[in-house]
This record gives sequence, structure tokens and C-alpha cells, in this order.
Amino acid sequence: MPKLNELTAKETVEKIHKKEATAEECVLSVFERIHRLDDKVHAFVTLAEEEALRKAREIDEKVSKGKPLGRLAGVPVAVKDNICTKEIRTTCSSRMLEFFVPPYDADVIEKIKMEDAVIVGKTNMDEFAMGSSTETSYFGTTHNPWDLSRVPGGSSGGSAAAIVVDESILAFGSDTGGSIRCPASYCSVVGIKPTYGLVSRYGLIAYANSLEQIGPMARNVYDCALFLSVIAGYDPKDSTSVKIEPKDYTKFLRNDVTGFKIGLPTEFFGEGTSESIKKQVWRAIHKLEELGASCEETSLPTLEYALATYYIVAMSEASSNLARYDGLRYGYRIDRDDADWSTVYSKNRQTGFGAEVRRRIILGTYALSAGYYDKYYLKALKIRTLIRKDFEQAFKKFDVLIGPTMPIPPFKIGEKIQDPLALYMCDVDTVSANLAGLPAISIPCGFADDLPIGMQILAPPLREDLLLQVSYAFEQNTTYKDRKPSLK
Ligand code: GLN
Repeated sequence: MPKLNELTAKETVEKIHKKEATAEECVLSVFERIHRLDDKVHAFVTLAEEEALRKAREIDEKVSKGKPLGRLAGVPVAVKDNICTKEIRTTCSSRMLEFFVPPYDADVIEKIKMEDAVIVGKTNMDEFAMGSSTETSYFGTTHNPWDLSRVPGGSSGGSAAAIVVDESILAFGSDTGGSIRCPASYCSVVGIKPTYGLVSRYGLIAYANSLEQIGPMARNVYDCALFLSVIAGYDPKDSTSVKIEPKDYTKFLRNDVTGFKIGLPTEFFGEGTSESIKKQVWRAIHKLEELGASCEETSLPTLEYALATYYIVAMSEASSNLARYDGLRYGYRIDRDDADWSTVYSKNRQTGFGAEVRRRIILGTYALSAGYYDKYYLKALKIRTLIRKDFEQAFKKFDVLIGPTMPIPPFKIGEKIQDPLALYMCDVDTVSANLAGLPAISIPCGFADDLPIGMQILAPPLREDLLLQVSYAFEQNTTYKDRKPSLK
């Protein structure tokens, strides 16, 4: 019998409905696991145990009074620490926001609360979501549960690690250039970066607005689809929110890919992609062929420029977004009331931000400065358009595109942190979906040397249904999701 914290979201809701378990028991089992394991994994920055138990008892009362229950009734959800939670500290894993307690909930938090989910705590991440390893957090690194000496991926590393070790059942991530898909791949969970505009960004602390989306992370495709159904939808408080009717994404989960046309961009299998990853992704592709899909290699020539384009756009937007942290209105402030304004401002930012965040602010400011704007930022925007057009062409021929999520397996903690370019290179396959605003998913597709490998699937805008259908069919016909790390 699985323990309550090992259940899926679907099973949890069913058990609570049938009164086979209480929400309180579900929440307690998750916290028992956290207290036992999180010293080793360090997935969480802040726990919300009291609030969680209060919410759980509220749900149990609804059950006993026969009141209607939400779609996520009693399901524990971990929240990435760049998503604002009312009265729960939200730090972005930065010293700058170490004591920031938001006075309001992000739209997605309101939505899950309405559906009776239970927030267990806030998960560790790269500082301000800048990174691919969760090593730039002010609060220390999260460890990959498959091998504690390795990184869990990033920047939503705490979220992915928490669900794979059953410290939560669902988790929120955010993805600016791969931050949901990378840790999903490195920890062997499912993560979706939704179409730009599908999920409200209201209450997401901004890194690069034109690229990022909040998205669901779960242990299987069904739970991810259910979670997405709850958080997607129009929000007038986010001007980039798309006006479409809410959908139940679980309706698209059919174990069938007959007739699907799948494109394999050669650029996703390029130089620098490890042989073990190529081998495993190709095995997954052959599996999809066996199941009735037709797969064909193709080329999107502008993808070669995606990484450089992404970093110029992301850093430029970051330099502008992070200008608000002056330590005067809120956030970290040095104790120097005698100094002049510019000394205080500089010192606040020098001490409040870590090295990677400062590097990006400096580079982004440079790319936007007079004289360099045309050469870097404007050029990047033009290439971004070409990349989008390349995808449009590809989707005339294919339903979805597939490749590896990450070019290399989870690396050792400390191995790359001194070499920013080497870290940036890890994002080579994920950033293009953000530049083009496309939905993309990472699903477990195998192991090499006992480390997980993820497969990335991309679809045209608002075609999350296609991603989910292919993923579900693959998952139903393989056993990777059942393998768990051996941490006790
Ligand atoms: N690793 C990428 C970066 O550092 C992506 C981060 C993200 O998606 N938030 O910018």
C-alpha cells in the first residue's frame, strides 16, 4: 500500500471524496516525509505547516458537512519561491527579499486555493530564477535525489526534487528559458511550460516578462494535465493573458498516437549533446513509432542562434525588472543612514544580490545602452521573429517536435558554477520555446548510469492538448515514471 504522500493528485482527491483519508492525514504524511528527508535534499526554503494544517481541517469540515469540494481537494502543492503567497514569505531565493512577505496572492495561488489545494511551503530556486542548477540560491543548493552530489537542475530545482521524493504531490515552477523542463528532466518528473499568455503571471516576481510562464510539475502526465486545467485561464490583471475558455486538459489524455506526425529538429541533437542522451531519446522516438506515429528528421536553421538571442533578451529584461530593488522601499537594506543616496543604492544592490544576478544586470544594462542597443537588443528581437517563423513553417508539416530536454545529464554540484558560459550552454534546447511563446513539456524517457533523462515535446501555440496526448501515450507504454530514487 502506498503511503498518502506517495499517492497521485487524482488518487488523493478520490480518497478524500470517499472518506478513505482525511486532508489532514494527507498533509501530515507529506510533512513527516519533509522532516525526515529535507535536510538531505533541501527542496524547501520556507515551510507553511500551520497554514497547511488549518486549510486541511477546513477541507475535512467541508467533507463532513457534505459541501462540494474543489478539483484539488486536499492535494499538497509546493510553490516555487518567486510566486507571491499572501502571508507566506516569498524570497526568490535572494538575500534581497529574505524577509519579504507579500500582502497578496498570485493569480495561480488564488486559483488553487479555490480548488481546495493545500500549500505546503515555498521551494528553493536559483536566485531570481537565473540559472539551471539551483546553485545560485542565497539559501544553499538543492541536491538531486537520484545522486545527492549532483544538481537537481534549475531554476525550479526545489519543486522538482520535492515531488520526486514525495515531499509534495504537485509543485509550481516557472519557466523563462527552461526552468520547469530542466529540473523536470534532471529529477524525472513531468513539467509543462505553457503557451505564453495561457497562465496568468500576476504575482510572479518578474525576471524576463516576455519569456516567462508559470507552469505545473507533477509525477505523471495526468496530474500535470489536471493541475494545468486549474491554473490556466484568462486574468484581466495580466495584460498578456490570452482570452480563451478554460479547458479540462485531462480530456485529451488518449493512449493513442496513430497518425501523429513528429518532427525531429537536427539542431536538438547537435554537437555537445551527450551520446547517452541521444541514444535514450532515440529509443523513445522508436517507441512512439511503434505506437503508430511517424517520425522524420527536419531542420530549423535559426535555432543555432536561439541561445545567444535568449541571453540578450533575458538579461536586458532582467536589468530593467530588477531596477526596482533599491532597498529603499522594500527589500534588503544596509545599515548606513549617513551615506549619500548613490552609495546606499549601490551597496544595497551589491550586498543584496548574488554574483550571477549582478552579472546579468550589468550585461543587460550594457545591451540596452545607447550605441549598443541596435547591435545587441534590437538584433536579438529580429532573430527572435525569425525563430518564431521557423517554428511556424515546421508546424505546417508536423503536429509536434521532439528532442532531448537537456544536452547533458545532471552534473556535479560545483562543477560548472565558476563557468557561467558552460552553464548557459545547458539551456540550448529549452530556450527556443520561450522565444517563440510555444508550449513545451519534459517527460521522463529513461536513465543512463542511474541518472534520469528527459524528452522534450513542443507544439504550436495553445496546443497543450497535443503535448499531453503524446506524453500520455508514451507514459502508458513505458515504466520510467514508476522508478523512484532510493532515498529513505
Ligand atoms: N537557465 C535559464 C537562465 O538562467 C533559464 C532560467 C529560467 O527559465 N528561469 O536564464
